[in-house]
Amino acid sequence: MRLVFLGPPGAGKGTQAKRLVEALGVIHVSTGDMLRAAVAEGTELGKAAKGFMDAGALVPDEVVVGIVAERLQAPDAEAGVLLDGFPRTIPQAEALDAILGEAGTPLDKVALLEVADALIVERITGRRTDPETGKIYHMTFDPPPAEVADRVQQRGDDTEDKVRARLEAYHAQTAPLVPYYEAQGKLVRVDGVGDMDAVTERLLASLKG
Ligand code: AMP
Repeated sequence: MRLVFLGPPGAGKGTQAKRLVEALGVIHVSTGDMLRAAVAEGTELGKAAKGFMDAGALVPDEVVVGIVAERLQAPDAEAGVLLDGFPRTIPQAEALDAILGEAGTPLDKVALLEVADALIVERITGRRTDPETGKIYHMTFDPPPAEVADRVQQRGDDTEDKVRARLEAYHAQTAPLVPYYEAQGKLVRVDGVGDMDAVTERLLASLKG
């Protein structure tokens, strides 16, 4: 199963992706996580990506396509993948179609997690991650337990001005993927607002169906 998870920043893709990969038995490929790891390690890739990420802008297509192409060649990707945060532009989507087409394993479905812009800023600015477990919390909606509260961290690009830049990038560069995948008959729309378990159920139902 080859799946793409599409949606604005802060729609809950990261949280839901972690649940979906367990339920579906596929690997989670998050370009955001891979880029953040590269920045933390100070690799050449990280150095090339950092400035774009800090500004809330997209990293150039050839850089992200390269890391995804490499990841998809690993043996554990054969069981299936959930791509989270990739593709984010039409050229990335075309590159992905070419890679998967050559491998004879085309995309099965694309889930669009829908959340209105008005809710996104509140969701993202309250977001915190536990560096030890990777679990994502929200200071209002899902606060970390006392023993974790001291160590949770806010992503550098989760501040209000960066969120607005990331939303702009989403509408200008990523939203055109909706008609692109609709034309391929692969797009399923899922309401991303409400109880987290209910959103997971809706996603599983639409991806399996
Ligand atoms: P995310 O964790 O998916 O919100 O990604 C965080 C940041 O990493 C984005 O704001 C971009 O700067 C960069 N990034 C992640 N995935 C991509 C992609 N597919 N194309 C370009 N930039 C990306």
